Amino acid sequence: MYSVFWSNMADSQASSELRWHPLLRQWVAVASERQGRPQLPEDWCPFCPGSGRVPDNYDVYLYPNDFPAFNFENPPFSPETGLFKTTGARGACDVVLYSPNHRQLPSQLGAAQWGKVIGLWTKRTVELFSNPEVQYVSVFENTGVAIGVTMPHPHGQIYAFPFIPPLIQRELESASLYLREQSVCLYCRILTAELEDSRRVVASNNSFVAFLPFFGRFPSEMQICARRHVEGLQQFNEAELGDLASLLDVVRQKYDNLYGFPMPLMMLVRQRPARGEHPYFHFHIDFLPIQRSWTKLKYQASVESGNGTFLNDTRAEEQAGLLREAEPKTH
Ligand SMILES: [Zn+2]
Ligand SMILES: [Zn+2]
Repeated sequence: MYSVFWSNMADSQASSELRWHPLLRQWVAVASERQGRPQLPEDWCPFCPGSGRVPDNYDVYLYPNDFPAFNFENPPFSPETGLFKTTGARGACDVVLYSPNHRQLPSQLGAAQWGKVIGLWTKRTVELFSNPEVQYVSVFENTGVAIGVTMPHPHGQIYAFPFIPPLIQRELESASLYLREQSVCLYCRILTAELEDSRRVVASNNSFVAFLPFFGRFPSEMQICARRHVEGLQQFNEAELGDLASLLDVVRQKYDNLYGFPMPLMMLVRQRPARGEHPYFHFHIDFLPIQRSWTKLKYQASVESGNGTFLNDTRAEEQAGLLREAEPKTH
C-alpha cells in the first residue's frame, strides 16, 4: 500500500528549474515538489529489500531519486544568464544504497563493502561523464538526523550537474592559479607539508592520507587525499581502490567513536569536472562534520550562511589527536 502511494507521489512531480542569482552569479535549483516528500511510516522503507522499489536481493544498488532536483527529462540547460532568467535543471540525482541492511551504519560497513560502494561510484561517474550535457558529477553523503536526513537506511547520493557548482569552480581556479604561479600541484604541496608536520594526520596507508586541514572550516573537518597525483576515480588502480576502501572504513569508525555516537556529517568525493583538461586537480574526499563537542552542534548561521566566513570552534591539531586515539588505531 505504501509502495503504491510512494510511486504515485514520485510520478506526479512537475519539473524543477534553475533560476539565476544575479547578486551571487550562481544557479539556484528550485524544486518545490520536493516539499511533497511524504513522511514515511516507521515500519516501511523504500530502500529495504521487499519494498517493491528495489531488487529483493542486492548488495549495493543505484536507485534513481524519487524527487530529483536535476533530471534528464527536464528542459535543456542553457548557460545564458540574466535577470529573472530560468533554464532547465537537466542532470541526474541518484541514491547509492550502501547495504540492504536498514540499520547498518556507514561505520559498520567494513572495507569490503566500501570497496563495492566505490565500484558503484566509479561506474556511475564513467556513465555520466559520457553524457555531453554533464559538466560535474558530485558523489556525496549526508548522514545523521542533525543534517536533515529523513531516511536512516545507509545511503549516499550522486548528482550530475549541467554546470560546475560554484565552490568547485572556486577550488579549480585556486588550484589552476597555484600551478601556474608555483609550478607544483596545490594539493600535492599541502599533502607533503601535512606529512612533514604530522600533527594533523589522523591515519594513512600506502595510497591515501587522512588529515585535518590546517584551514578547516568545520569542527573535525577531514580530508582524505591520494598520495599519487590522480584527478578522478577512474584513474585508480586495484591496489589504490582497496586502500581507499580500507581508509574510508577506518575514518568512518573513528568519527563514530570520537563522541561515542554516529557523527552527523557531510562526505564529498571531489573529482575533476566531466569536460576539459584539469591537470591541476587532485582527487580528495572532504568530510564536513557538524558535531563540535559531545553535546553541541555547529550551525551554519549568519556569519557562515550570510557572510561566507566560517567560525571554527575547534583546533585541527587537538581534534586530530583525539581522532588518532579513537578506535580503530592504525599507528
Ligand atoms: Zn531500509
Ligand atoms: Zn597533486
